[in-house]
Amino acid sequence: MTTHDKLESINPATGDVVGIHTVDDTASVDAAVARAREASHWWAGLGFDGRAEVLGQWRGVLTRRMAQLGDVVHQETGKPHGDAQLEIGLAIDHLAWIGSHAGKVLGRRRVSPGLLLANQAASVEYLPLGVVGVIGPWNYPVFTPMGSIAYALGAGNAVVFKPSELTPGVGVWLAESLREVVPDRDLLQVVIGGGETGAALCRADIDKLAFTGSTRTAKVVMATCAENLTPVLIEAGGKDAMLVDHDADVDAAADAAAWGAFSNAGQTCTGIERIYVHDRVHDRFVAELTRRAGTIHAGTDAEAQLGPMTMPSQVDVVRRHVEDALARGGRAVVGGVDAVGDRFIQPTVLVDVPEDSAAIREETFGPTVTVRRVRDMDEAVELANATRYGLGASVFSAARGPELARRLRSGMTSINSVISFAAVPGLPFGGVGDSGFGRIHGPDGLKEFTYAKAVTRVRFKPVLNLTTFDRTPEQDSAMASLLTALHGRATQLPKVPRRPIATLRERAGRGPRQSGRS
Ligand code: NAD
Repeated sequence: MTTHDKLESINPATGDVVGIHTVDDTASVDAAVARAREASHWWAGLGFDGRAEVLGQWRGVLTRRMAQLGDVVHQETGKPHGDAQLEIGLAIDHLAWIGSHAGKVLGRRRVSPGLLLANQAASVEYLPLGVVGVIGPWNYPVFTPMGSIAYALGAGNAVVFKPSELTPGVGVWLAESLREVVPDRDLLQVVIGGGETGAALCRADIDKLAFTGSTRTAKVVMATCAENLTPVLIEAGGKDAMLVDHDADVDAAADAAAWGAFSNAGQTCTGIERIYVHDRVHDRFVAELTRRAGTIHAGTDAEAQLGPMTMPSQVDVVRRHVEDALARGGRAVVGGVDAVGDRFIQPTVLVDVPEDSAAIREETFGPTVTVRRVRDMDEAVELANATRYGLGASVFSAARGPELARRLRSGMTSINSVISFAAVPGLPFGGVGDSGFGRIHGPDGLKEFTYAKAVTRVRFKPVLNLTTFDRTPEQDSAMASLLTALHGRATQLPKVPRRPIATLRERAGRGPRQSGRS
């Protein structure tokens, strides 16, 4: 890899070259990080209000130029303009939240010092790390990386962003749009390239690396960052389930299932890939989902709701999953192997698919979904949780939504809708298990790009100075008395046992002693 290497950006719907970019080698990544370091001092010094003003101006630029950015997204991913606008709009909304909440979430606040340190004042604040590296995927090339970029900026860091090699133009556009607001500051820079450029960013002098992409690459990224003990945030893949209870609004569930499974041609980390439906409503649900799936198609015509598969190699993954499901006894009630074309994949609904098949266990990342009949919601929860992933989930139930949502092992769950959690800026976004760790969005997402700074300050001379060699035996004994008064009671055994403790004799089955025989 050298800076002379060129990267062609291809329109996945047509194969046309829509941009040519110069690849950044290690030296140029390091130079970008050094420039970011410069900018980070200025940016941190601006404070919450100054930063909110800049981010507000950037939001204005993004909003006014939404159509232009949407066009770049459309060209590089193939997704319909409406979908491009949706992800840009959500990113703008998050940016607004960041501007108005960063100070409240991260600013200095007092903490009770406790009785032992009653003579001190205690406070905590969340300070910027410095320079954050962001590595992004191609499926939502604006919304997904902005979950890291915007929150890292809002927390006071400068950012170096490596967009996916499939969507470099979107990354360049984002950085240039912020440069319009702060022309002479390297607040957000883009480095271009694939894995090698990403690895160079992991090894560069950054303070944190926020990665969004596949679980497989996440492990490599984490290992590379470990070389310098650089902390990582991992937003990886998913295998999200939807649960449909017997009392659910079946039409609404089928509508949401269709959108959750097929929108963005199924290339959504929190897309619905598995559906578990209560026996009583299963047939009605499948019929309604089948009807809706029949009204949706992928293509380049104006009516097409789905675009192409953005990453050509993903077509083979989807085909393998469908073939495996059918070979192992599954049925396609919509689509099937023939639905998998060269670039476009038509919606596919699979039923009776064994739980140990690839379509259930691996991330498919295409417009396919499996539906399985369950006898009750306990079985549904058990099957939904039987995966190493744990990103998002959806529950359709009139009576038991919150209870079922809580039992699902996923970072996020929407009740009676799909993927709504991603659009609420105040909510954390992220997963467990193979879906990663750490959070973007919301207060947790801001804190993710900071370090907690704890400070104590002596307000008056203490009665008991704990941290001195001048401490006397009397003071140690006073300390012991104080500790006993504070915590001793909690450790005392209860005076009246809840149950009389059986004597050895009773435990031996010989009954209590007769009174008077002592
Ligand atoms: P990917 O893992 O192939 O690539 C992600 C990024 O990592 C790209 O920018 C790539 O160039 C870079 N990369 C590759 N090798 C690298 C290396 N050795 N060192 C550093 N960087 C390297 O993922 P993708 O195909 O771009 O995206 C699809 C995946 O992303 C899916 O698994 C999807 O579920 C996941 N995703 C997750 C979220 C989330 O928030 N959890 C959001 C969107 C997408």
